[in-house]
This record gives sequence, C-alpha cells and structure tokens, in this order.
Amino acid sequence: MKGLMTDTPLLITGLMTHGIRAFPDQEIVTNLVEGGRHRYTFADAGKRIAQAAHMLTKLGVREGDRVGVMGWNTHRQFELYYAISCIGAVCHTINPRLGPENAAYVMTHAGDSVVLFDNTFAPLIGALAPHLKTVQKYVAMTDKANAPSGVPADTYIYEELMAGQPETFDWPELDENTACGMCYTSGTTGQPKGVLYSHRAMVLHALVTSLPTSFGSDSTDCLLPVVPMFHVNAWGVPYSTFLMGTKLVLPGPGMDGKSIHDLIIEEDVTYSLGVPTVWLGLLQYVSEIKGNFGKMKYTLVGGAALSETLIRGFDAHGVGVRQGWGMTEMSPTGTVNNETPEEMAKPLEERIPIQLRQGKPVPFIDLRLVSEDGDLVDHDGVASGHLQVRGPWVLSDYYNFDGQTLTDDGWFDTGDVSVIHEDGRMQITDRSKDVIKSGGEWISTIDIENTALLHPDVVQAAVIGVEHPRWLERPLLIVQLAPGKATNPEDIRQFVCGKMEKISWPDAVEIVDEIPLGATGKVLKTALREKFKGYVLPELRDTSKKNTDMKTGTEGENAPRKKGFSFFGLGRKK
Ligand code: AMP
Repeated sequence: MKGLMTDTPLLITGLMTHGIRAFPDQEIVTNLVEGGRHRYTFADAGKRIAQAAHMLTKLGVREGDRVGVMGWNTHRQFELYYAISCIGAVCHTINPRLGPENAAYVMTHAGDSVVLFDNTFAPLIGALAPHLKTVQKYVAMTDKANAPSGVPADTYIYEELMAGQPETFDWPELDENTACGMCYTSGTTGQPKGVLYSHRAMVLHALVTSLPTSFGSDSTDCLLPVVPMFHVNAWGVPYSTFLMGTKLVLPGPGMDGKSIHDLIIEEDVTYSLGVPTVWLGLLQYVSEIKGNFGKMKYTLVGGAALSETLIRGFDAHGVGVRQGWGMTEMSPTGTVNNETPEEMAKPLEERIPIQLRQGKPVPFIDLRLVSEDGDLVDHDGVASGHLQVRGPWVLSDYYNFDGQTLTDDGWFDTGDVSVIHEDGRMQITDRSKDVIKSGGEWISTIDIENTALLHPDVVQAAVIGVEHPRWLERPLLIVQLAPGKATNPEDIRQFVCGKMEKISWPDAVEIVDEIPLGATGKVLKTALREKFKGYVLPELRDTSKKNTDMKTGTEGENAPRKKGFSFFGLGRKK
C-alpha cells in the first residue's frame, strides 16, 4: 500500500527558504579576496541569491546548463551555490589546484557555458580561455574598482551585473533528482572524473550531516569551513548552514595559520572543518605565538587520516577532534567518529586509539569489506578488505564516462583498504594503490606516517613502498622537518621502530625540503614515487652483505619478521 503523503520534492531551494525564514539575522562573514572583511545576514544573502539568479538568467543560463565557478570560500561563491542550482542549472566547482591542463580538461568535459572566477585565478583563466571552446561568458567575482586584467576582453564584473537586479525570484519547482552541482575527482591517477550531484542527494546529505551525531551544530555556533568550496561542496557546509542556522565564517584566500587563527579569535568560531595539513599549519602558528583557540570547541578533521599529533595538539588547547571520512563520489560524508559520553570520560591515552578510527557510517550509508577474491571480510578489527559503500548520496555513475562505476551488485568500490572494528567503527589502513605488500603481509602506510608525526621535529610524513629482492616491497619513510631542524634520518627511524611492530619498521628514512601536496591538500605519493624511482635501500647498497643474507637466508638486522604468506584479508597486525 502506498503512503498518502504529499510528494514534495527535496530541493536545495527548500534549504535556502528555511535558512532565511528561520534565522534571518544570522551572519555570514567573509575575508574578501580584495582585502577586508565582508558581513551580511542570511536575509541579505537570500536577496543576493535572487539577484544572482536574475544575473545568470540574463547571461543566458538555462536549466541543465553547467556553470563553472573557480573561487575561494566567499559569500559570492555561497550565493552562486544556491542561485545556479535553484534555477535548475549545475554549479560546477573547479579546483584551481588541479593544474592548468586538468582545469581546462574538466571545464571542457563538463561543457561549462559560463565561468565565474575570483581575481586570484584571473591569470589562469586568461591563459586557459583560448582553449575553452564551450565557455561563452566569463564573470570576475569582484567589483568595478578591482576589475582584473589579462582576462578575456568581454569579461563581466559580478557586482556590476548584480546591481539593480530584483531581490526576489520565482524559483522553479524542479524534480528532486535534477542535477544541482558537479565536482571532478582530484585526478591523481588518470583523467579527473566528474561527479554529478542531485538536489535530493544534497538535501538528504545536509539533513544527516546536521545531526549532532554527525557534525551538526546549531544557531549558537559559529562555523568555519577551511575545507574549500571548490572541493566536494566544502563537505556540504554551504547547504547545512541554512539548515542549522549557524553563523558562517568564510576564510576567502587566507588559508595560512595566521589568517585562520585571526578569524577564529575575532569571529568567536566554535567549530571548524579541515584537512590535517591545514590543522598542522595552524597548530604550529598557535604554538609559535603562544596563542589559544578562543571559543573553539571542536574541529572536524577529514580528507586524510587524523594523526595522534593533531589530537594531542588540539587537546592541549581544550579543543575536541572528530574524524570524518568520505569522498568526492560520496558528496562526501561516509563516516563520522563520535565518542560516546563514556568514551569521552576516559583519559586521553585511552581515547586516542578510538579517535584514530574513521568512525561509524552516518545514517543511510552502508559499508562492506571485500577480499581480493570477492568474499566478504569479517568486521573483527583485524581482517582488512577493499571498502565498498552504497547510499543515497553515493554516485551511480561518473558524468559522461564509459567504464563501469559500480560493482555488479550496486556498490561503489572506494579504493580504500580498511578494517571494521567490532564496535562498528571503520578504520582506513591505506589506499589500495598505496598499500605495501611485504613478504605477503600488508603494511599500513598510515600507521607508519602517524607514528613518524609523533617525532617532535617531523611536520609531514609519507611512506612509499620500494623494491626489495626478498620481501618484494619494504617501506621507505620520507619526512619533512620543522623549520630549523637538522635531525638525523637514523634517529627518526629508531624513534619509529621503537613504537611499532618489526614488520612495519621503515627500512630507510629520507628527509626532503617539502613533501608535495596535491590539489586537495593531501600528500601526493605519485610525485614521491617518481622522485624515489629506483631507490636502493641502504642495506642493499652493500652487496656483500646482501649476498650473505640472500644465500644463507639469515635476516639482516632490519629485515621484517618472517611470516606466512598471508594475502589480503588474513590479518592486519597491530
Ligand atoms: P577525495 O575524493 O579527493 O576527497 O578523496 C577521498 C579519499 O580521501 C578517500 O577515498 C580516502 O582515501 C581519503 N580520506 C578521506 N578522509 C579520510 C580520513 N579521515 N582518513 C583517511 N583517509 C581519508
């Protein structure tokens, strides 16, 4: 029997209407690209969203058109998130850090007809414009006084187009499955692939992430998304803000420790979201100035694994840390790690191993682990497997893509390798392409990296597998030291070895000036693999020693503990 309820579509327009109606006086604050700080209310934002919708319509944007936006987290991009989607067009957020080639590729592949950009990216847009065959109109997101040079001659100015437009709009009632947004994967392997979000998925994602058990907050909170709006909708914050009624603080181009810290203190930020690299920079800055975190209660860390160093760093300032895990393909939220009141009452040492887990799936998201043979793997916290997901905000297919996106039975293979603990918390051990297989054992690079980060002189760590004649692959630890430190690599190796099981001991440590980061602030292991291509481990450089070891089978001091040939799924050793 069918329920007798009104079939009202779940539209982003509904989120906007609610925010303006319920919290008209709540603030949105922006560090402007042009300098200075802008602030207005939800009610003002509503009027500007309507003006932006008129502006877009006059530029010729129609339902289904893709509109590219390359910008920092600002009130203007916030307006566009709603204006573009609510007229039925698709807000294609472009990651400027993809590099010129990939940026041109994604704009062309998406078929963007209009592109709006911040002044910071004017040189990039100017250089790319001759190659962007689908783009008919450009808009610089600024005012007349700050009009950029070096861009196509007929580039419009956002504030000029907005001026005088009506402050209300007759929003269309769209089908809830209408596409509303688009984001391309960061493209560390192969071409970036387009993920096309729908109104329904964004509304459900916003509702679920607004729960206190996800990363919800309320109208007494002040939220600072350091996660960029050009990558996976800044974890849905632009949508959930209107739902929760939180004050929203947008950092604009200032993503460095000082700019973020100034905002936290001056705007009374209580809650913030970001990737670990941003937080490491912030903690370093706060320790340099011997500062504090003002009213900040919580930070949500995701996008890459949370480390013990971060937990301890924030704890020292009385700031709680929650870990979340997700992907572009999942809008992005898959899991959030919330501690129970009993867990929170425990001493920090007991809480750390819990906090290092990526958490339990949020409502409507299902997880499963699958072995290389396609068998389901037990959720016992020991056996690892390929992590697969399904749910209402998980993609069904990439945009204009020929290959197969889901498994035959409808799950999305995340490319992550993880365990699921008996308490239901999932813990990532690796990306499947990063995992190190040593003598048949799987070694978690994340475990080694997090251990290295505990060393006081190490600010960034990455582990890659290098060839070994006997064990096939062994871990090479690459670290970046804090400014002014000249620590001996062997000291760092000894430090890590003292804290880990022998199989995970890095065979060598290399120090680099800077660990390369990718378009979304994650360590770029592809670049490190390229840099250390053909790397010969120190123990193998001495051929006489190597020959003795290989002939007699005796283990060199650094060789891993010998184990049975236990392939995937047979156990991750802690
Ligand atoms: P992206 O689609 O660029 O956001 O990247 C998604 C990938 O980032 C995931 O598949 C994971 O490999 C990684 N990731 C995201 N959050 C976490 C986390 N909390 N811990 C470890 N890896 C993460």
